Amino acid sequence: MRIVVVSSEAVPFSKTGGLGDVAAALPKGLAQAGHEVTLILPHYPQQFAKLTDAPALTPVSLALRVPVGHKLVDGRVLKGQLPGSNVTVYLIDQPIYFDRKGVYVENEQDYRDNCERFVYFSRAAVEVVRHLNLKPDVIHANDWQTGLVPALVAAELRRQPGLDRVASVFTVHNMAFQGRFWHWDMHLTGLDWKYFNWKQMEFFGHLNLLKTGISFADMVTTVSPTYAREIQTPEYGCGLHGALSSRSSDLVGILNGVDTEIWNPTTDPYIAQQYSVETVESGKAACKAALQKRLGLPVRADVPLFGSVSRMTGQKGFALIGQCADVLLDQDVQLVFLGSGDPHYEGLLKQLAVTHPTKVSTTIGYNEELSHQVEAGCDVFLMPSEFEPCGLNQMYSLIYGTVPIVRAVGGLADSVVDANDHNLAAGAANGFSFHEFRGEVLFWNICRARNLFADKPKWRKLQQTGMKRDWSWKHSAAEYVRIYERAIGKRRVGSECEGEEE
Ligand code: ADP
Repeated sequence: MRIVVVSSEAVPFSKTGGLGDVAAALPKGLAQAGHEVTLILPHYPQQFAKLTDAPALTPVSLALRVPVGHKLVDGRVLKGQLPGSNVTVYLIDQPIYFDRKGVYVENEQDYRDNCERFVYFSRAAVEVVRHLNLKPDVIHANDWQTGLVPALVAAELRRQPGLDRVASVFTVHNMAFQGRFWHWDMHLTGLDWKYFNWKQMEFFGHLNLLKTGISFADMVTTVSPTYAREIQTPEYGCGLHGALSSRSSDLVGILNGVDTEIWNPTTDPYIAQQYSVETVESGKAACKAALQKRLGLPVRADVPLFGSVSRMTGQKGFALIGQCADVLLDQDVQLVFLGSGDPHYEGLLKQLAVTHPTKVSTTIGYNEELSHQVEAGCDVFLMPSEFEPCGLNQMYSLIYGTVPIVRAVGGLADSVVDANDHNLAAGAANGFSFHEFRGEVLFWNICRARNLFADKPKWRKLQQTGMKRDWSWKHSAAEYVRIYERAIGKRRVGSECEGEEE
């Protein structure tokens, strides 16, 4: 199958969160399964300049000229390779839009022209498909930044000779980010205003690019089966539960896999001692001591070490840590936080490190190497998210024998099996999970983990159950192929994608 994946970020070229991991690992997994995969990304020169091992890029002889509203915006296309794969990458180079310090945000403010930037990117990606004669069976777009792509496929691309059979798939990685813009931005898209209706691109008077992707794609996926159910309810649908329910027969949740070339304790170059499921005890002991030393915490094997690597935002449940911090820090525990985000949570966690220097270490910032060391060195990983489409860190933790404590939502519910008596007896337990979004419930689960941590044989069993499961992309990539096949069978053409009213 010929597959084109379009994303606003992918490692190593760019990454702000889980999308960056998925948009690189899925194409790799698909290519390994024998499919011909092309990835189209924006070129962010300032992110690219930070790469230590930057892939070689060569200009493609294609002069892009993309309509954005009344303007025609030129651009270049650069060609490269996704490291460790035979996936071809095309990067859309237009410095006016993409040569910036941030990817979407600078000084905590969204770029004011984000709609224009990603309309340009979406149209440019479709132009690349057309002019480079990629002839895909399916185009797979991701999140609001490429939500316009399925609409362009349905309304424009399929009308081109030889391209009438292209199918589209749209994946929602997080309903909280929708690309909502004022209605006049509709003219930037170049699509007929007839599509600006409540069933397609409009949402309470605004242009909504996430809704656009959901409405026009032949198949819609999201990143875990539980999240696929949750987002059809008012509680988790962020206003779009109706749009999602109306597509429920075409909406499928597929749990993300993990790039096990990057996240693998047997080969990880960043950690103090590599280890496997057989050597987890000694390996983790060495990694724990090295982490404690690096962060200036007392080097002690007996104290349970809890860690978190995360965007520090409300979504990730830091409010619960705040609620139980006092009682938690009365215990003999150590806590390690790595991340950045909301100044309120950054301040809270920095303050805990100041008031409890022998128990808490907080590192504000983005640090790939330290994130691997936290995963390897901690005993327990904290992820009490308010909502979590899939979540990657709980799966990294499971692979590293770091037992996760999670709230049972979205992908956390689909990957973590609670260590209750029944699951322990069945040998299925790999972590701790709870439902109520309350600090005392998190604290109670931290105590459960601390108690089990003291029971070494049971703890070892928990760790090994998590480590033994195959978390790689193999299964998820195969599921995506089935979705692509369904999308090809469903291709909606002509009047089926027309607006509500002429
Ligand atoms: P989300 O996409 O909601 O941010 P995920 O768990 O799906 O959450 O993915 C987050 C990704 O970003 C993981 O790969 C995680 O390790 C990484 N990450 C987040 N914050 C940091 C940080 N401060 N330093 C290094 N990696 C980070």
